[in-house]
Amino acid sequence: MECMKEYIEEAEKALLHTYNRYQVVLDKGDGVYLYDVEGKKYLDFCAGIAVFALGYNNRKYNDALKAQIDKLIHTSNYYYNVPAIEAAKKIKKVSGMDRVFFTNSGAEAVEGAIKAARKYAYLKDGCTDHEIIAMEHSFHGRTMGALSVTGNPKYREAFQPMIGNIRFAKMNDFESVLENVTDKTCAIIFETVQGEGGIYPAEESFMKQVKALCEEKDILLILDEIQCGMGRTGYMYAWQKYGVKPDIMTSAKALGCGVPVGAFMMTEKVAANSLTSGDHGTTYGGNPLAASAINVVLDLFEENHIIDNVKEVGAYLTEQLDTLAAEYEFIETRRGIGLMQGLVFNKPVGDIITKALEKGLILINAGTDIIRFVPPLIITKSNVDEMIAILRSCLEE
Ligand SMILES: *Cc1c(COP(=O)(O)O)cnc(C)c1O
Repeated sequence: MECMKEYIEEAEKALLHTYNRYQVVLDKGDGVYLYDVEGKKYLDFCAGIAVFALGYNNRKYNDALKAQIDKLIHTSNYYYNVPAIEAAKKIKKVSGMDRVFFTNSGAEAVEGAIKAARKYAYLKDGCTDHEIIAMEHSFHGRTMGALSVTGNPKYREAFQPMIGNIRFAKMNDFESVLENVTDKTCAIIFETVQGEGGIYPAEESFMKQVKALCEEKDILLILDEIQCGMGRTGYMYAWQKYGVKPDIMTSAKALGCGVPVGAFMMTEKVAANSLTSGDHGTTYGGNPLAASAINVVLDLFEENHIIDNVKEVGAYLTEQLDTLAAEYEFIETRRGIGLMQGLVFNKPVGDIITKALEKGLILINAGTDIIRFVPPLIITKSNVDEMIAILRSCLEE
């Protein structure tokens, strides 16, 4: 068996250097634990960045995928397939949206949402100079369209020019949205809870004001639920907490629990007046294997009462993090909803995360000063206690 150090050396010779990876080669997972190639065990509070909601090595999930692999993996979207039909029906049910387009990733879902919004506006007035309002500190993905609405100038700088006519407003500041609205505005896009940008939940009043503005001016509200969706806030989609329904929304990450899938969904009104035959496509999106992952994930969410667990354990995690925040003067505050939480420090958190890793706890940051907690949604209170104990020992040092 090669040791971890050798693997890492090989990786650094072959992979493009776009990530500063932690010095760990992960090998297998079970429940809320991961194991590296040398057999060391880690409690996982990252879940592959809010992806593996059901925990690792779930028997029913694995069996469903294996069965589909033996049956049919791919057909192309020129034909129908049963898993995709089932998955679309299930997504409609849990999201309350009317129509679904499957993608392979979150960024692609955002691309599709942008195209749908532009087409909707184009069909109204025939113009091709429509504007989109996005939020500062937002994150929507790394492809050119998704990057163009991502509110982190550092991510965009070297790749200019972006797609045009994007304006940035301040999240939870309705005045700043109003300042950016023009006759050309076709959509307003934001994450119901900002993830990468620092775990900033949208305020209910802000959502309601933006929604009212959108209705008044026939602007489309696009909510990016790629990270905060799929039960993480204690609601299947975070907007359901506020009852502010988007016109278009995106989903990915936990939607496939590890199989690369995404989707954008829309209301019938938008569907009937935007993308049509020939306007958009994907070779892989919604293929039988990907769709079977969505199906078994949504079945397991129901069977295992995942959302009830998030409500209960999320409240407990909130309490424990608040206690921690009150104890240490270098922790400024806690932000978040359910099992999507951030601890805001008044200094960089990189060293704490590295120390935690040495002690067998996987954490991630959101920006330089925030530790982000996005564990598998099946965690228990005792997993939270275990995490807090390790984190506390890191903070003591
Ligand atoms: C991760 C993420 C994306 C991008 O998803 P990819 O699958 O990495 O392309 C987009 N929006 C939000 C809110 C995300 O968290």
